[in-house]
Amino acid sequence: MLTDTHAHVQMPQFARDREDVIAAAFADGIARIVVPGIDLETSRAAVALATAHPARLFAGVGTHPHDAATLTDEALAGQRALARTAGVVAIGEIGLDFYRNLSPRATQLAALEAQLALAHELDLPVILHNRESHAEMVAMLHAHARGVRGVFHCFIGDKTMAQDALGLGFYLSFAGPVTFAKNVELAEVAAWAPAERILVETDSPYLTPPPFRGKRNEPRHVALVARRMAELRGLRFEELADLTTRNANTLFRLPELQPQEGVTQHASL
Ligand SMILES: [Zn+2]
Ligand SMILES: [Zn+2]
Repeated sequence: MLTDTHAHVQMPQFARDREDVIAAAFADGIARIVVPGIDLETSRAAVALATAHPARLFAGVGTHPHDAATLTDEALAGQRALARTAGVVAIGEIGLDFYRNLSPRATQLAALEAQLALAHELDLPVILHNRESHAEMVAMLHAHARGVRGVFHCFIGDKTMAQDALGLGFYLSFAGPVTFAKNVELAEVAAWAPAERILVETDSPYLTPPPFRGKRNEPRHVALVARRMAELRGLRFEELADLTTRNANTLFRLPELQPQEGVTQHASL
């Protein structure tokens, strides 16, 4: 059983076939999907999906660094209220993105600080987006994330950056980039990272792994990430799936999955 710890299935890219995509993931052995928001509206949509699929889909409530300018006091109050809803397991996705800089850096830093405080207040883990902003992220976490746990989603850094994240008590979540042959250094980090701190995700609809590159990504493709991770770590696929699902259950405090909530039992087994 696999857990896709990061898939934006509430986004418009899934407007036409969202329930089919979710059903296809369940049929393929994906046990759980964590759906992070990127602003108040998409956080509400994530919570609606979690409500519609109890114990299978879970929501993150957060404002992405790209959308940091939308995090007004009113929006933050909206997130605080929404985050108390059943099925919400994280504050995210939140973070810094100094590569695309779609919001001014000072605005991104302020939004991150406010949402780290919210995570601390509500005792929820954070889902972090961190691109070309590692030094600032580490400084922010040291200063404002005492006691806050979480994950560096779609980790693409080097071993030193991984050690920084692990030293802060954070998890590393691996996505499509770990399957790309050219990412040799990332493959080394994925092979080396402590077993109890690794997660897998798709970041759907983005970062589609081969052989589906160029198409929309979907939660069921988390199996391709898991297969590559298993190969890199010398594990069987099932072992890697169980390990990362246990880690997701621990980080996000997901309830134990009941057998009837899993994939359809095969008659021959
Ligand atoms: Zn992200
Ligand atoms: Zn994302």
